[in-house]
Amino acid sequence: MNQKQQNSTPKKSQQNNSISQTLSENENSNETQKEQTLKPKETINTLFPEENFPEGKTIQYVLTKTEEKRSSNDIDLEQKETQFFEEKLKNLRKAAEVHRQVRKFANTLIKPGSKLLDICDQVEDYARFFIEEDGLKAGLAFPFGCSINNIAAHYTSNPGDETILEESDVLKIDFGTHVNGYIIDSAYTIAFNPKYDTLLNASKEATYSAIKLSGIDSRLLEIGDEIEEIITSYEIELDNKVYPLTPIFNLCGHSLDQYLIHSGTSILPCNYGPNLKMEEGKMYAIETFASTGKGFAKKKGECSHYMLKPNAKKFLVTRKSSKAFLQFLENEFGTLAFCNRWLKRLGRNETKKDLKRLSRSGVLGKFPPLGDIKGSYVSQHEHTIILRPKCTEILSWGEDY
Ligand code: MN
Ligand code: MN
Repeated sequence: MNQKQQNSTPKKSQQNNSISQTLSENENSNETQKEQTLKPKETINTLFPEENFPEGKTIQYVLTKTEEKRSSNDIDLEQKETQFFEEKLKNLRKAAEVHRQVRKFANTLIKPGSKLLDICDQVEDYARFFIEEDGLKAGLAFPFGCSINNIAAHYTSNPGDETILEESDVLKIDFGTHVNGYIIDSAYTIAFNPKYDTLLNASKEATYSAIKLSGIDSRLLEIGDEIEEIITSYEIELDNKVYPLTPIFNLCGHSLDQYLIHSGTSILPCNYGPNLKMEEGKMYAIETFASTGKGFAKKKGECSHYMLKPNAKKFLVTRKSSKAFLQFLENEFGTLAFCNRWLKRLGRNETKKDLKRLSRSGVLGKFPPLGDIKGSYVSQHEHTIILRPKCTEILSWGEDY
């Protein structure tokens, strides 16, 4: 991937392209109401009846002499590429193609004056339709994230959210799709005003540079160091004041596993922490945040995201109603994240106490919005990659980012 090329494409026009593509079949779709009623017919399965979902962007590894020798001795390598990964890759590429289509749809709704709650509902409805949602076999891996300005992560509308998008907003779109538990976690940033371009470029460049350094046996600290180096090399002038950019040090990339958004390994945006190596066959979400603030995200506002903890001590939940609620959550979401809106659409309106009890028992994790200081702006870019034997595949890569 050529980073220069990536950056030279103006953000605004990328966005407009995808919008016009989606709208071209429908002249009257300026009104969101119309878009809602004119439901698109194609789904991922009708578009790809042969299940030949497109490969992501691949980056071949540069092998050292010893590695070359080792790999040429490894007669299984070719077979490994085809067999071991076949099923995993099919699921991941399917989820990735859904992600690309859903974000294209999302971009048609995202404009100044739009209500966040409507965007969340409509995008998720479309995603459920397009992926042909099927229990825990295929669907959304976590809620449609739409964190604004200083809020960096874990914001999605709660029922009744009246937030309206403004022209001056910096919006992080972060959502997840999955097929058979194989998760695509990918995010991008939208700003209507070009004055934020530098901010958006910082996280984009950092994420792509981190991806380029990723590979089998790559050192996490080297990647973290690169992320910090790149983001701190930027500054931005906003309303006649210059702000140095900083990564958000307590938000990081992570390894993923089947039905697990965070499977244990963290990729911090600095040269700090255990210097682990990346491993073959593993999936990683490479994500970076650039901020005009302090570089540290704290809890902000009302919680919307929850997730059952894997291997939680469920016997600690003794109250009958809590047990039933826990069972319901397990059936619906397994260990995938969910939000208040999703509980409501399943007919569960009064869940506050139940959620609180489960969280106190230690079986449920709460993930409130996280943000930098008031008045700051944060951008984010994220891709899910898989380390194949011979190359890194950027699964969620698309023409847009
Ligand atoms: Mn994400
Ligand atoms: Mn992530």
